Amino acid sequence: MAVVVQKFGGSSVASPERIKIVAERVAKRAAQGDSVVVVVSAMGKSTDELVRLAHEITHRPHVREMDMLLSAGERISMALLSMALNARGVEAVSFTGSQAGIVTDTSHTKARIVDVHSHRVEEALDAGKVVIVAGFQGVSTDSDVTTLGRGGSDTTAVALAAALNADVCEILTDVAGVYNADPRVVPNARKLNEVTYEEMLEMAASGAGVLVLRSVEFARTHGVVIHCRSSFTDEPGTLVKEEVDEMEKALVTAIAHDDSEAMIRIDGVPDQPGIAARIFGDIARERINVDMIVQNISHEGKTDLTFTMPKEDLARSGQAIRRIIADIGAAGFSADSDIAKLSLIGAGMKSDPGVAADMFSALAEAGINIEMISTSSIRISCVVRALDLEQASQVIHDRFGLGTEEAVMEGV
Ligand code: ADP
Ligand code: ASP
Ligand code: MG
Repeated sequence: MAVVVQKFGGSSVASPERIKIVAERVAKRAAQGDSVVVVVSAMGKSTDELVRLAHEITHRPHVREMDMLLSAGERISMALLSMALNARGVEAVSFTGSQAGIVTDTSHTKARIVDVHSHRVEEALDAGKVVIVAGFQGVSTDSDVTTLGRGGSDTTAVALAAALNADVCEILTDVAGVYNADPRVVPNARKLNEVTYEEMLEMAASGAGVLVLRSVEFARTHGVVIHCRSSFTDEPGTLVKEEVDEMEKALVTAIAHDDSEAMIRIDGVPDQPGIAARIFGDIARERINVDMIVQNISHEGKTDLTFTMPKEDLARSGQAIRRIIADIGAAGFSADSDIAKLSLIGAGMKSDPGVAADMFSALAEAGINIEMISTSSIRISCVVRALDLEQASQVIHDRFGLGTEEAVMEGV
């Protein structure tokens, strides 16, 4: 008997009708004799709605209370799905993250799972029940409710799959799998049948939100095979797994974009040892994740330092940056939110120096200016104007022959 974890995202449980369709799908799987654990997200965009409500109360909601609030979204969908299954005569029981034994650290709103005590889930499975678990939440080592960061239900699913030694962790969503670009931005993107953890990690870190980064990290560490597929059809999706010899190493596997970051430039930074450590040490203490960093060649002992960070942390970072500038004697700073990052990912590019040049020339031919560049051994990222993002994505996708003949995602 196989243990299967199935995670349904917000759009899949957006309405009572959709929840009933999910119940039908889960019931079918359970009838095949599999032990089924279902992880659900909050209905539709209800987490956004809860965030909006909190900000109507205050600009800086207390993070513990934010978690109390946000965890409510998944409680609703888990209970409704369990009711739908029971109403069909399929025995089901729902658990909050805490009841399911998801133990996290104490970082409210971006907690990390540190342990999974899955005995209660296992007992319910042994009793022949379908288990529904609220995604995106857990209980901290201080016994408070925590949430795992936006998109965190994927991580709940993978963590449960690891703890239960499940045969597969299915992530069911509103697209048919992992594509070689976001189909909303590149309509003729192609679905990948398989992708390695290494490439999926780079894709997720570069903004491919179809799987949240932390879930892929967890899957790789624990050897969980993810099957990302459509929640609306039965067609096979994309397997995310360890590289095996026969897996073809494409020069370029996919492109990804991220428009969630802003660019900060600090001018007139004294070019002395220890300055970068002070700047980024202070920013790290504010728990702000810096992504790309570029430092210019210095002139007369001064340099400019440019970096990117989440837009959502921009307001919070202002005070810290002003303090840093005064502290190190820099001239000033500017923030720019109208940027986007475009990344090209492929394990095969490790050994091919021509990929970067091809990417840059495709952008140049389209008249698109590159403002920052960063690379890893299997990724090249460029910052461009946000307005240029769609065109930039399409020309790069075309340049590397990644597309299908026609748009596969009509209406997405
Ligand atoms: P869910 O609510 O099911 O978790 P998400 O919105 O988090 O769904 O993820 C699915 C979305 O991810 C798709 O609708 C698609 O627009 C976006 N996406 C971004 N990059 C990719 C990609 N490479 N392949 C597929 N979808 C992608
Ligand atoms: N409901 C949460 C969110 O919208 C978690 C998730 O959907 O994975 O981010
Ligand atoms: Mg998601």
